[in-house]
Amino acid sequence: MADDLQGLIDGAWPDERGRFGEFGGRFVPETLMGALQRLEHHARTALVDDAFRALLGRELSEWIGRPTPLTPAARLGEVWGAEVWLKREDLAHTGAHKINNAIGQALLAKRMGARRVVAETGAGQHGVAAAAACARLGLPCTVYMGAVDVERQAPNVQRMDLMGAKVVPVHAGDATLRAAIDEALRDWVSDPEGTFYLLGSAVGPHPYPWLVREMQSVIGREARAQIRAQAGGLPDVAVACVGGGSNAIGLFHPFLGDASVRLLGVEAGGRGSGLGEHAATVAWGTPGVLHGTFSLLIQDADGQVIETPSISAGLDYPGVGPEHALLHRIGRARYITVGDEEAVEALGECTRLEGILPALESAHAFAGARQWARENPGKRILIGCSGRGDKDLGILAAHGGGR
Ligand SMILES: *Cc1c(COP(=O)(O)O)cnc(C)c1O
Repeated sequence: MADDLQGLIDGAWPDERGRFGEFGGRFVPETLMGALQRLEHHARTALVDDAFRALLGRELSEWIGRPTPLTPAARLGEVWGAEVWLKREDLAHTGAHKINNAIGQALLAKRMGARRVVAETGAGQHGVAAAAACARLGLPCTVYMGAVDVERQAPNVQRMDLMGAKVVPVHAGDATLRAAIDEALRDWVSDPEGTFYLLGSAVGPHPYPWLVREMQSVIGREARAQIRAQAGGLPDVAVACVGGGSNAIGLFHPFLGDASVRLLGVEAGGRGSGLGEHAATVAWGTPGVLHGTFSLLIQDADGQVIETPSISAGLDYPGVGPEHALLHRIGRARYITVGDEEAVEALGECTRLEGILPALESAHAFAGARQWARENPGKRILIGCSGRGDKDLGILAAHGGGR
């Protein structure tokens, strides 16, 4: 068996069963096996096809606005006693990294001849990205969204609607993201040939964790080249927030072979460390199967998946991508938690000092980076600023404004 880290670097992981070491795989009903195999086949072919890569490259630059800048954050750095650089996914079209994956999978859907696309969404960021990509390519799009989230995230529902997507509220289960994914999978099972399931994070059954990582690695590839050119060398640490783990794996993956670069994932510590108070899947979760993959989960002693509250809706998922579970187990990346209050405070600090309003999700990465800077003075820190915070103004107002 491949040495796990080397396996990730040289592409032996995921293996043909979709395993990253002991994690990952394909735990789905027989009816979905064929569809997943077909998706994997087409994805593997497309990603090495020059014509497809050129098409994707053009959409990334001409529609999304890539490469996103790498911004030095001198005033934050002065306060923290560090050299701080921000990878600006907040400046990507639709305001977050999710669009990188959405356009890539939508192009793949088109190439595979899909008649329609289904997607799930929690806070609505992935739903908006999927709706935008489908509008761009002329693909009908249905987005499943928990009824509770439809209520909480009205502006994103309106955005999806304007882009021509059909938003379907899901009342089953907890009526949030977990139930929405169940429903999207159910839809896909009923028409696995004509429908393409556009999954929003590095989770789910193989090939999604790999496919989403491939689509998001553009973040880390750009950042690595930019920081070498602009700062004159590699960072000492790369920091990103972790929900399902797509922006973090996208930032981390191109640095896996750079032994001098530490990788720090920051999870939502929510209101506290008790079960049902946080979404810190890697830091405090246990192994189990959710949505077709074997990874780390927030579950009780009976294996029941537990609610995962966080002030940032995008980090509120009870599972995590299997590649993160492996990076954690082999110690290549470290995962820490940041609570709601610390995240709000870090958001305020960045906004005041740099004139950049990060998303509450991204603010977790800022708070984690600041903590790391305190323990490791004078270092070069790369932060993945996964999205912009305009969507969070209502929550911030209710929270005392973040000042
Ligand atoms: C959705 C979202 C996240 C969390 O998702 P990952 O798959 O863990 O990246 C983080 N930041 C923003 C801005 C998001 O919209």
